[in-house]
Amino acid sequence: MNIHEYQAKELYKKYGIPIPKGIPAMNVDEAAKAAETLIAETGSEVVVVKAQIHAGGRGKAGGVKVVKGTAAAREAAQDIYGKTLVTHQTGPEGKVVQRLFVEQGVAIEKEFYLALAIDRETRTIAVMASPEGGVNIEEVAEEHPEKIFKAYIDLATGVMPYQIRHLAYGLGLDKKGTKSFGRMLRKLTDLFVKEDCSIAEINPLILTGEGEVMALDAKVNFDSNAHFRHAEMWDALEDKSEVAATESEAQAAGLSYIQLDGNIGCLVNGAGLAMSTMDTIQYYGGQPANFLDVGGGATQESVTTAFKIILRSDSVKGIFVNIFGGIMKCDIIANGVVAATKELGLKVPLVVRLAGTNVEKGKEILANSGLNITPADTMADGAQLIVKLAGGK
Ligand code: GDP
Ligand code: MN
Repeated sequence: MNIHEYQAKELYKKYGIPIPKGIPAMNVDEAAKAAETLIAETGSEVVVVKAQIHAGGRGKAGGVKVVKGTAAAREAAQDIYGKTLVTHQTGPEGKVVQRLFVEQGVAIEKEFYLALAIDRETRTIAVMASPEGGVNIEEVAEEHPEKIFKAYIDLATGVMPYQIRHLAYGLGLDKKGTKSFGRMLRKLTDLFVKEDCSIAEINPLILTGEGEVMALDAKVNFDSNAHFRHAEMWDALEDKSEVAATESEAQAAGLSYIQLDGNIGCLVNGAGLAMSTMDTIQYYGGQPANFLDVGGGATQESVTTAFKIILRSDSVKGIFVNIFGGIMKCDIIANGVVAATKELGLKVPLVVRLAGTNVEKGKEILANSGLNITPADTMADGAQLIVKLAGGK
C-alpha cells in the first residue's frame, strides 16, 4: 500500500528523522496560506510547492516548484493543482493532482539516494545508498552499479556501526555527516520495522549547509499483509482516488484483481490457475486484460461483481472463463456469468472452459442462458479460441 509524501514525512517526523517544515494543502487557497505560515515561521521567503500523487518523477514533470514569497507560491499552486502529471511512474494516462504539500525551501549542499527494502533471499532489510541522488536511480543502477552501496541489516542485531561507515564512505560524508547519517539510518530502520514497510525511499537525501543529512523527499510503501496490525491508521491514510476504482471494488468483494493492459478479460479461480491462464493466453499470441482470482469461497454475488468488472472495461475484446471446480462449484460461476450479462449485456466473444465440481449443472445453466458462448474442453483450446475471437494481439 502506497501513501503520499506528506503522510510519509509525518511518519518520519514521529520517528525523529530530519525533514523540512511542511504543511499539506487540499486546494490553492490552503497552499497560499501554508506558504504564508511557513514564511512567517522560518523567516525565509523560499518555499517549495509539491504535487502529491502516488508516483515519483514529479520534479521533471513540473510537479515541484521552488518559489519566493506567498504570491508566487499561490501561482505555483494554481499551476500544479488539478493538472494531470505524466511522469515515468504514472503511465501515459498520468495522475490528476488533488493534493499539494508546501515546504520551506532548503539549501542543498549535495543530493544522495537512500532506500530500504525487504530482501527475501537473505531475510534482512536491504539498504541501498548512492552519491548519485536526485536523478533517475534506475539509470544509475544500470550504468554505474558501482555507485550503489549496499548493506543488509540483520533484524537480530540491527544497524551495525561498520555498515554505517561503509555506506557513509560510499556517500563521501565527513565525520559529522557520518554521525548524522547513522542516526537517520537507525531511525529509518526502526520505522521500517515497526510500521511494517515494504519500501522506504528517500530521493534526494540531502546534506544541508550545516553538514547534516535531511530527507527532502519521502516514499513509504506498507506491506499489505500486515494490514491487520495497522488497520485503523492505514485505512485513514489511504487515498482512495489513487487506487484504480475497479481494484478497490474487487477488493471489497474479496477478489484478487489486477488490471493489465491487454484485451482479453480472464475470470479464473485460484491464483496458480490464473497465472497459467495468463501465460497460456500470451503463449498463443494474446494479451490478458487482467489477473482475476475469484478464489475458492466465492459467492454468486462476488462472481457477478467479478464478471461485471470485466464486462465494463472498454479495452476488453474477448473474455475467457477458465474454471477448475474444486471447492468452487461450476454452477455458481455459471450463475454469476448469467446474472452479470443480464445486467450489462455481452458484446464481446466469450469462451468458457469448465471442469470439476458440478460441471454438468454449470454447462446446462450456460446452455440455457441464450448467451453466445463458445465452449472449450481444455485451457489450451480455450486460450487459442479466445485469442482468435478477440482478433489476435
Ligand atoms: P520527485 O521528482 O517526484 O522525486 O520529487 P522530489 O521531492 O524528489 O523533488 C524533485 C527535486 O526538487 C529534488 O531532487 C530537488 O532537486 C528539488 N527540490 C525539492 N525540494 C527542494 C528544496 O527545498 N530546495 C531546493 N533547492 N530544491 C528542492
Ligand atoms: Mn524524489
